[in-house]
Order: sequence, then structure tokens, then C-alpha cells
Amino acid sequence: MRVALGIDIGGTNTKMAIVNDQGQPLKQSTFPTRSTIPFSDYADEVFSEAMKLSAGYELYGVGVGAPNANSATGEIVQPVNLGWKLAPLVKDFTDRFKTDVFLENDANVAALGEKVWGLGKESDHFIVVTLGTGIGTGIISHGQLISGPTGMAGEGGHITIYPGGRPCNCGGFGHLECYASVRGLKLHVQEQTNKDLKFSEISTEFKKGNPDILRAVQLAAHDLGMGLAQMQTLFNPDLFVLAGGVSTLGANFRAMVEAGLNESSYGPFKNSSKVLLSPISTEHGAVTGAASLVFWKKPLL
Ligand SMILES: [Zn+2]
Repeated sequence: MRVALGIDIGGTNTKMAIVNDQGQPLKQSTFPTRSTIPFSDYADEVFSEAMKLSAGYELYGVGVGAPNANSATGEIVQPVNLGWKLAPLVKDFTDRFKTDVFLENDANVAALGEKVWGLGKESDHFIVVTLGTGIGTGIISHGQLISGPTGMAGEGGHITIYPGGRPCNCGGFGHLECYASVRGLKLHVQEQTNKDLKFSEISTEFKKGNPDILRAVQLAAHDLGMGLAQMQTLFNPDLFVLAGGVSTLGANFRAMVEAGLNESSYGPFKNSSKVLLSPISTEHGAVTGAASLVFWKKPLL
């Protein structure tokens, strides 16, 4: 059976999985990303872990999702949460794995995962929005991933929705991810309740119908809708897919975001884009997305 190895390099953990051509993870492992060590030492760790995981499988290719990945050069460039200044990932991994290695930005592989195995199978114009600690966006337009000359296209989390608003981790102000990421939602909750709640507590209270939390989630959903409306005016997508973190609040949250979008939409676009929750579980989304890169770039004959 031909399988892909998907690797998600996160600031805290590196996740990898053997994924079949139907998008099902067959074996998985997680270990801490030690980005304080030189990149080649980290690559040693990845390779030895991958060899254990892939024993007995024919590896069709390796797909990697990482922050600040330059898909054109195959390098990770000055990632905010990782210690390496420049990591020549594709060259290093190709030497070790002796198979095709593909690298893309983490939010872009989430979009490919939807295109290959998820809700995007039926659409050539959609945007995936990952609502984790920050917000990432991956754009599929005319059936193609929009990556730009350096692979950085689609940084929708840094669209300004409130000029001069909350400070963003990037140094800017009033960006979408300050209002609708997990961190942004927590700030809304803090403003409504004066309490510093964990996301899991917010989620439980939301599902119980706690009115203060409901109000905070409504504000976050409204703000997200404003951001989606800006993306909509540029790309005219027929679908937005919400994934990860805040999207696990579920159906009521989804409906609030769709209402927020339609409220902010430019006239001709009102009610033109569906908002759906990703069917790919948050736990597996990043690695299956990374693995989808292999089958996308190298379709099975
Ligand atoms: Zn920002």
C-alpha cells in the first residue's frame, strides 16, 4: 500500500502520521519540537522517528506543513515560534528520506487537506480558516492553491478589522486574529466577565448557554464574519471552511459566523458563500493536510 508521511512542525510539538490515499491516518506520533538545537540535529530526530513509524510501508512521499514555509525555495524562514533562522528543510529531508519531499505553509496544507479529502472536493473556490492560537488562511481559487512567490499568500489572520485596536503578536494592531482566534475569544470573554477562562471552560459554558459567554462568542463570531467578508470581496469563494480551535464550539458558532459574514458582505456577495465546519478532526487536521500535499503534487496514477 502506498502511503504518505505527513509532518506538522508546530512551535511546541512535531506531529507525524502515516496517511493512506483516502486521508486516513494509520499510525501517528508526537514529540516536542526542539528548535533550540541546530536544524540538522532536529532533522535527525524527525528521521529516526519517521523510520520507526513507517516500517513496513512503502513511502510515496513526505509532506511537511510548517509556519513561515517558503514553498518556492523549500526553506523555513525566520519562524516566530521556532529558533532556526533558516532551515533548508526540503534539501535536508530529501537527502535523508530519498523520496519526494514537499513543504508548504501550515494553513495552506489545511486548505489542500480539504481539497483532496474534505469539503473542498466539490469546490474550486474556497478558503479554509484555521482558528487556533492565531488564525491562518489557505486559499483555493480556480482549483489551485494560491501561494504567492514565497508561499506566504493568505495571511488572513492579519487583516485589519479595527484600526488601532488590540495589539497583535506580529506587532500590528486590530488584526482579525486578535478577535477571533482562541486568544481573541479569551479576550472577549475577559471583557465580558472579568475572568481569565481556559478555552475548554469557555466551550463548556457556551454549550450550557451561559449568557455572558454567549455574548463573547457572538462578538468573536461577528468579528470573524467581518474578516471573512473582506476575503470574500477579493476572492468570491462559494465556501469558507472553519477548522481547529474555536471551530470546535460547533453548529451554533457556525451559524453566528455565517450571520456575521452576511451582515458585513458587500451587497452582491450577500448569501453567496456557505460557512461550514471542517469534517477533518482538529487532532488530525494538520498532519493529514501535510500528507495531502504528497497526493496533490504527485497524483496516484
Ligand atoms: Zn497581526
